[in-house]
Amino acid sequence: MNYDVLLLRFGEFILKGKNRRRFEKSVYLHVKSVLTPFPKAQLRSEFGRIYVHLNGEIASELIPVLKKVFGIASISPVIVSSSNLENILTTCQDFLERLNIEEDTTFKVNARRVWKGFAHSSHEMNHLVGSLLLTNFQMLNVSMIKPTLELRVEIREKDTYIFCEVIAAVGGFPRGSNGKAILLLSGGIDSPVAAWSSMRRGLQVECVHFYSFPFTSQLAKEKVIDLARVLSGYAGEIKLHLVPFTEVQTSFTGTGQDDLIITLMRRSMVRIATMIAEREGSLALVTGDSLGQVASQTLSSMNAIGRATDLPILRPLVMMDKNEIIEIARDIGTYDLSIQPYEDCCTLFVPKSPSTNPSLRIVERIEDSLAALTQLEEEAVSRTEAIVLSPNKEGKLKDQVNIQEDWF
Ligand code: ATP
Ligand code: MG
Repeated sequence: MNYDVLLLRFGEFILKGKNRRRFEKSVYLHVKSVLTPFPKAQLRSEFGRIYVHLNGEIASELIPVLKKVFGIASISPVIVSSSNLENILTTCQDFLERLNIEEDTTFKVNARRVWKGFAHSSHEMNHLVGSLLLTNFQMLNVSMIKPTLELRVEIREKDTYIFCEVIAAVGGFPRGSNGKAILLLSGGIDSPVAAWSSMRRGLQVECVHFYSFPFTSQLAKEKVIDLARVLSGYAGEIKLHLVPFTEVQTSFTGTGQDDLIITLMRRSMVRIATMIAEREGSLALVTGDSLGQVASQTLSSMNAIGRATDLPILRPLVMMDKNEIIEIARDIGTYDLSIQPYEDCCTLFVPKSPSTNPSLRIVERIEDSLAALTQLEEEAVSRTEAIVLSPNKEGKLKDQVNIQEDWF
């Protein structure tokens, strides 16, 4: 069916008093950017809402795109009538004719007179529209409680909006409205979902990935770059820091404490990510940890790892089941990339039985015994390279450094 307008409603951030205008503006700009492929669509923003005038663009093509814009709670495709009784009644009638209503559909009219200059009250309009439709559509049965079809008629001064669908959208906070965080991005299923969840909450996310040439391949790194590119579709742009981790990682292999090696590596990652966070002005780290999923994600392990930083570690997936995470990964388009079977630097060094209850005292003692560890970590930071990814373009190196051959 052809509609005239899409009505976009904002999510919960609407409650936040003084930031409201800034938040609304940022959703508006996000909507504008995702609608570039639909040049006829025009935007208009009004207290608490955005109207997309379709001007011939197809509603069903725009809706899936707009559903993904952070900060939008719901979308209604709308038919517009001029605000005069006769036109409203005819438009409602036409609209229902086009809906192909089934037998025994429960129904109610929900009219709202926003413009008090209109001659008929909301209550009167419910009756006027309702009785017309009941006479002309025998298959309708009135029901005030949870009807299948609720026809909404919003009477405003210039136009009247007629619609029945309220399609749930992604919600959350406007893009980048809640500060910046550093996300530890592996090539797995979980961390890209953690990235998306953080972005939905309004965080601007920069990704950090640790790779270990020659133990991990070019393809493994490319996979992470591809994942970050998918994520940039939600963020507009993603900065990805690629940290050479081989030296730090191999420094742990001779310590004779194989069961603690994952804890040691994770603490190192966290320290390095913290240095990058400080440099980039980020106030938190984010990981894809989910409680109990693997040895490094027990409470005890999270405790030992978390103590390696003063920054808060946010774990958006901590209480989620794997199948819930997979469902989101499919929805956001990262799943198929994540399941490509390339090795991660951690999986390579996984001992047969990693500790699920690492002793912080022993871990710290091992770290103290490695005289070069801090230096190796600082070197890893200084050799870190950053690329900025956007949805349809090749990654470009920050500061115009030439791409090294061993990257791809
Ligand atoms: P994921 O699916 O995100 O890889 P996972 O279930 O495989 O998670 P782990 O491999 O234990 O779990 O990793 C836990 C978290 O540690 C990841 O979600 C990610 O945030 C971080 N992480 C692991 N490996 C790396 C890496 N090579 N680079 C950056 N972060 C990493
Ligand atoms: Mg992993």
